[in-house]
Amino acid sequence: MSEHYLDNAATTRPCKAAVAAMMRCFQENYGNPSSLHRMGLSAQQEMDKARRILAGALGCEMREILFTSCATESTNMALRSTAAAYGRKRKRIVTSAVEHASVKQTLSYLAENEGFEIVSVKPDENGCYRARDFLAALDENTCLITMMMVNNETGHILPVKEVFTAAKRKFPHIITHCDAVQAFMKYPVRPASLMADFVSLSGHKIHAAKGVGALYIKRGTKLRAMLLGGKQESGLRAGTESVPLIAGFGAAVEALSPTMESRFEYVKSLNLALRERLMERPGVKILSPEDGSPYVMSIIVPKLRSEILLHYLEQKGVYVSSGSACSKGAGSGVPETFGATREEADSILRVSFCDENTMEDVDALAQGIASGQREIMHK
Ligand code: PLP
Repeated sequence: MSEHYLDNAATTRPCKAAVAAMMRCFQENYGNPSSLHRMGLSAQQEMDKARRILAGALGCEMREILFTSCATESTNMALRSTAAAYGRKRKRIVTSAVEHASVKQTLSYLAENEGFEIVSVKPDENGCYRARDFLAALDENTCLITMMMVNNETGHILPVKEVFTAAKRKFPHIITHCDAVQAFMKYPVRPASLMADFVSLSGHKIHAAKGVGALYIKRGTKLRAMLLGGKQESGLRAGTESVPLIAGFGAAVEALSPTMESRFEYVKSLNLALRERLMERPGVKILSPEDGSPYVMSIIVPKLRSEILLHYLEQKGVYVSSGSACSKGAGSGVPETFGATREEADSILRVSFCDENTMEDVDALAQGIASGQREIMHK
């Protein structure tokens, strides 16, 4: 049976360049970058190279990049550190209502334990995020705005640049954080142009390994270390660096950078083909907007619970995610925020592409949904 992996927003297959860089560090350059001998220097050079590549991709300085273990660590660090360094008197944080759990849970923690008021901005009645709604939520008391660039469940794009630029103009003291996990290497992510003080990134969403992320920190922005110990990462993140994973992250960025536009166009063609195929299916709705990221598509297959359809598709070699619905009915709430009913939210499939996907994957999914509608519904 052929396999059709359409769950790339969950994680991606490490690319050849990333695997080669990791193998080099596992087998040859396995020194500790803090060691003073030649092996340590080689490991340090691997990290410098990766940092240079990331800095090139973001258009920033090498010293503005901190390597972490994942984007969850990056978001936690940016938000908690900003709360500690800038939120002593200013207690308001503005965010969107559709953030990833790593942001949402960190903000809940800050609300419950440190007295922050969290203002979650919702989209308009068309499911569209408007900059003016974020700006209306800001005041003198706001210390932070945190927004994702591309939603991981639906592909909706949020007006990060517009909000950050206007916010900084009106309230220069406000710190801005962007979760760019689902945007990086798909759209240009340039912190300076976004007016972002912090940007969180993840390796495994862009064909590097799981267990590595990065945090961009604008020079001059205060950052508190969360892990204390050695002097790694300029003393901001103690602990021996995972050189192989960092080198793999750099290699993946280097390999993907030249093809960002062509990959985007190709994935868009897959997305459009799937939309056309799904229009033939009775009752099937697409929650993702046509002008959203083509890499992610949320599909509502009415009267079929996500998990049931997901496992049915799995038997046909097609791998997707259940959008928000989980078996206990406690979904993320994101589909509802974008206009799905509670019932529809239980029937969501999230399909997510990368440029390794083909029209055969689209066909297999469309056929799987069609046969699922026939076979499961009529059981
Ligand atoms: N932010 C977004 C938008 C995501 O999609 C994810 C992962 O699903 C994360 C943050 C967390 O990334 P990581 O798995 O690297 O912690």
